[in-house]
Order: sequence, then structure tokens, then C-alpha cells
Amino acid sequence: MIRKTRLFTPGPTPLLPAAQFAMAAADIHHRTPEFRALFLKVLAQLKVFVGTQNDVLLLSCSGTGAMEASVSNITSPGDRVLVLTAGKFGERWVDLTKAFGCVVDVVEKPYGQTFDLAEVKAALKPEHKAVYMQASETSTAVSHDVEGVARLLAGTDTLLVVDGITGLGTQTIDVDGWGVDVVIGGSQKAVMIPPGLAYLSVSEKAWKAMETSKNARYYFDLRKERKNQGKGETAYTPAVALVAGLGAALDYIAGQAGGDLEKGRIALIDNAQVNAKATRAGLVALGFRLFAPVSPSGAATAVAVPEGMDSGAVVKALKAKFSLVTANGQGSMQGKIFRVAHLGFFDYLDTVAFLGAMEHIAKDVLGLPVTYGQAVAAAQDVYAKATKA
Ligand SMILES: *Cc1c(COP(=O)(O)O)cnc(C)c1O
Repeated sequence: MIRKTRLFTPGPTPLLPAAQFAMAAADIHHRTPEFRALFLKVLAQLKVFVGTQNDVLLLSCSGTGAMEASVSNITSPGDRVLVLTAGKFGERWVDLTKAFGCVVDVVEKPYGQTFDLAEVKAALKPEHKAVYMQASETSTAVSHDVEGVARLLAGTDTLLVVDGITGLGTQTIDVDGWGVDVVIGGSQKAVMIPPGLAYLSVSEKAWKAMETSKNARYYFDLRKERKNQGKGETAYTPAVALVAGLGAALDYIAGQAGGDLEKGRIALIDNAQVNAKATRAGLVALGFRLFAPVSPSGAATAVAVPEGMDSGAVVKALKAKFSLVTANGQGSMQGKIFRVAHLGFFDYLDTVAFLGAMEHIAKDVLGLPVTYGQAVAAAQDVYAKATKA
């Protein structure tokens, strides 16, 4: 039988056809009025997509490049920072801030959990230059309370830097209302295009901190980028085709709400949340345990396989039988969980297809007692309730 390849990974995510066409047609030079017009349009769209009046910059790198920029530009060697970590991407903040000579305090929670605000509050010190955290920890599929942490920092000199790489487009982040100084996004996540671009919003408070920060930076010099990008230029050759693709994707997201990108962003978040909820309901109906039941992410769902079974076998079987690509657990979670994505260009029928495939896998590969339709029916209930006018 024909099997279409379907990405269900939390980055890279499925590509939007309109973005692919725009990328294929992007045969333009970056030092031209054509590119400047495109770039300024996309930067303006990104501000709406992120939901901020702050500057938004676009960098040619994967998400980690913007994470690095948010450390190298803001901190100096010896600066004290606080990292909130409960997964592989939180650990990346620890490694990155250490690599740039910061003295790193950590609030750590076990994989699958989120932070207790009282613990964060107790760990906070006035000398903390910045707090680094994830909005959505993709390795465990947990959503963290950015608003709560922002509230703890209100009125202090400490900056809040949020890796929103899978949080943007899947959960509400009121950047200006809550006072989030830096929010980072990546192209291969909710915005439906290939890897290679990162974007970040930067508050006035963060720009001010950069005036005195002393860490080395060259390619990722945000103040240089700010000067250039204000004129529709980039310091170095940008990933032109990806910029064109991003513009088309943001047009599409706006088009989902009659051309209003702000409403389109909200609709995209709802879409991810409903698909995530339907997926969780379907998997629980099949007898699976959710790895992160308490504060699940809208970006992805992490599923534990029954004791003694290997999650890699599920990932392999989905690929072999249905050409459906999911992600195994990372690090110590490998073999124990697998992850399925909802961020970006997924619709409800994708969710139904995934759960239909999971019914076969649960029965044939894991030997669970399955009545065909039980996972799909649970998802249909969620969908029906969520879409009832
Ligand atoms: C994907 C992802 C990143 C960035 O990884 P890159 O491979 O550098 O694009 C960072 N943080 C989170 C939470 C992610 O999901």
C-alpha cells in the first residue's frame, strides 16, 4: 500500500506547501530593494507573531544560535545567572551560560515536571543578571509557567530570557504584558518552514544590559544586527530562501483568521492545544501513561510505554508500517518515552491518523488489548467539545 511520509516530530515539523513554493522562487540577492522590502515585511510580521512592541531580530542559524546570542550579548564573565531546568533544553541553558563564564545557579526539577514558583522565588537573588528558562521543554513535553516567573521578576533588574522555540505558536506568551525581555523562536517549529532561521525579541531593558556586557561575540552581535535590520539589511548573508518561506508561512497563519495575524496566531495556538488534548485523550484510552500529566505542552506529547517495553520499538514500527516519524526520548528518557508533535502545520485529521496508527501499533507491536476505534473515539470527543459553537 502507499504510505505517505508524515513528520510528527517536534522540530523539524511538516512544511507548508505555500512556503515551499516561496522558497523555490526566492532567487533574489540580499543587497537589493526587493530583499529589503521582503525582510522588513517579515520582521514586522514576526513582531505580531511574537506579540510584542519590542524589536524582533532574525538570525541565520538554528534556535541554539539565538540562545547563544542571548547569553553572549547580555552577560559578562563572572555574572551570576539563574537557570530553570527540567529537561535537555534546560540543560542547554546551563551549558551555554557556563561556556560564557557565568556563575550559574540552578533550580532543577525531574524530567516530566515543572517548577514550583516558591522554589524559584527562594532561589532568586538581586544580583542575578538574568533568569533563563523554556516556555515549552520539548524533551519532556512540559509547559512552564513563564507568567509566574515574570511576575517574580517584576520591578527587579534581573532580565527574563525565554526559550520559546516550541512555546511560540503553542501557548500564550504575553511578552510585553508580562515583561519578558528576550523570547526566542526557531523556523523548524511552529512556523512550518525548514531549519535554519532563529528569531528573538529584545526589550529595552535587555538592550541596555548589552551596553556594558563584556562577553565575546562576533557573528551573533545583536547590536550590530539591530542597526542593520532596522534598514532591512543583515550584517552577513541571510538565509534568503528561508526568509521568503517564513513570509509565506506568516501570510498563511494570518489567512487562517481572515488576514489578521494576531488572531491567526491565537488560532494556531488553539489548534495545537486541541490536537494535543485529543492526542492525550486517545493515548490514555489505549492504556498509555502520559510522561507529563501535570503541565503538558501544546507543542508535543510525551508518552511512556508500559514497563519492560522499548519506546524505540514504537518509533521504529510507526516508521516501518506507516512511514510516520515520531521522536524517541532524549538522553536518559531514550527507550522509555516517545514524543509526537502538534506544533505548526498539523490539523485534527493528522491527529486522527496518528491515533489510528497507534491502535495498530499498540495491538500488534506492544500486544495491548485494543478495540479498534477506542483512541480515535476519545479524540473525537475532545474535538467535538472543543469545536462546539
Ligand atoms: C528545537 C529546540 C531548540 C533549538 O534547537 P536547534 O536544534 O538549535 O534548532 C531549543 N529549545 C527547544 C525547547 C527546542 O524545542
